[in-house]
Amino acid sequence: MNAEILAVGSELLLGQITNTNARFISNQLSELGINVYYHTVVGDNAKRLEKAISVAETRADLIIFSGGLGPTKDDLTKETIARHLGVSLEFDDIALTYIEQFFAKRGRPMTDNNRKQALILAGSEVLANHHGMAPGMILTKDERTYILLPGPPKELEPMFQFEAKPKLSVMLNTGGVIASHVMRFYGIGEAELEVRVQDILDSQTNPTVAPLASDGEVTLRVTAKTETEQEAQQLIAAKVAEIQALVGDYQYGSDDDSLASKTVEMLLDNKLTIAAAESLTAGLFQSELAEIPGVGDALVGGVVTYTEGAKIKQLGISKELLDTHGIVSSECAAAMASTVRKKFGTDIGIGLTGAAGPTAHDHQPVGTVWIGIAIGDEEPITYLLHLSGMRNTNRLRTVKFTCHYLMQLLEERGFTKRY
Ligand code: ATP
Repeated sequence: MNAEILAVGSELLLGQITNTNARFISNQLSELGINVYYHTVVGDNAKRLEKAISVAETRADLIIFSGGLGPTKDDLTKETIARHLGVSLEFDDIALTYIEQFFAKRGRPMTDNNRKQALILAGSEVLANHHGMAPGMILTKDERTYILLPGPPKELEPMFQFEAKPKLSVMLNTGGVIASHVMRFYGIGEAELEVRVQDILDSQTNPTVAPLASDGEVTLRVTAKTETEQEAQQLIAAKVAEIQALVGDYQYGSDDDSLASKTVEMLLDNKLTIAAAESLTAGLFQSELAEIPGVGDALVGGVVTYTEGAKIKQLGISKELLDTHGIVSSECAAAMASTVRKKFGTDIGIGLTGAAGPTAHDHQPVGTVWIGIAIGDEEPITYLLHLSGMRNTNRLRTVKFTCHYLMQLLEERGFTKRY
């Protein structure tokens, strides 16, 4: 089966949003073994959309649409497809009831264009939308399959995964199960990781092992295709163990884990509290941790001490230390970590200082970062980074490295970590 992904939306052409839906869908289709040969983007224009559909039909037997299912006038995907295919639009009772209940619950009036969202292509199967109002659809006509998905990723992603993908799997008649597991690594580059697992990559058949690098992280997706779920999980577990034997030291989590979520999990599991003093990251470390529910039992507080004056006044770091060693220094990061720990009475203190860019700071080249980690009454431990990204990438990498080093230090001290 060859697929084309047709994303509809003028915002995409204007550069206001990135076509992450196409990336997501492509990723999912590769797991099903479906080839994606084209990504097309077209604006909210019926004529051009119809032309794009005609072109897609010459080269794909599965066309997946994203966007344009909403209530407004420029949402014209299904109307255009209906006209193009010569099928009518009809109300889907379940979708209509869902939309009516949505408005009734909020005590808001429902307009005609909201009702429009419950219109589906005649003969199509509905893909339920549990995160929004517009239902998706799947229709097969003249041996070609059309899947219509809403634009917002929070609606499209679960709809594809839980509604469309199983149907595609049945259509492909794979007669089995495809399961996959993502291993997440940090602190090792993609090239080095690939070299270390080269033999596995070279000899892969089932499960397959696919590396991917993004945002300073490397992942390995292990995918097994078998008769039963249990068999697939066994194959995956064996391959994961083989990989862990080679690069397990760098693995921080799997599937939907993030460095922040694993850090918070480890802090909570071990009943540890933390505070941070942040300079170049200006609160980003705390913000990343705060995205994880339940963090309130671990993250006590922190301070942003951006200037030299703030470091002296808020943290009580001596001017002499800063004059002698500089603001971007191991000594400053260590002092920030230990003073913030004492100030907030926590088990762990973090101190982050550096030159995020684009210009040098405190005579240190751009990308020079010091991370200080104070655990209990131990001497703080510091790490030097030489980052090469743009300003905000450097700030985010600093946060990720902090999580990575902190988890390593805690593990060395016997604190438990879940894998
Ligand atoms: P809505 O009911 O919200 O109007 P819709 O199905 O009509 O949904 P669009 O109006 O095309 O979808 O897009 C809604 C929002 O979804 C966009 O503003 C954008 O934030 C997001 N979105 C749309 N298409 C994409 C895409 N290809 N990749 C990532 N995000 C997208």
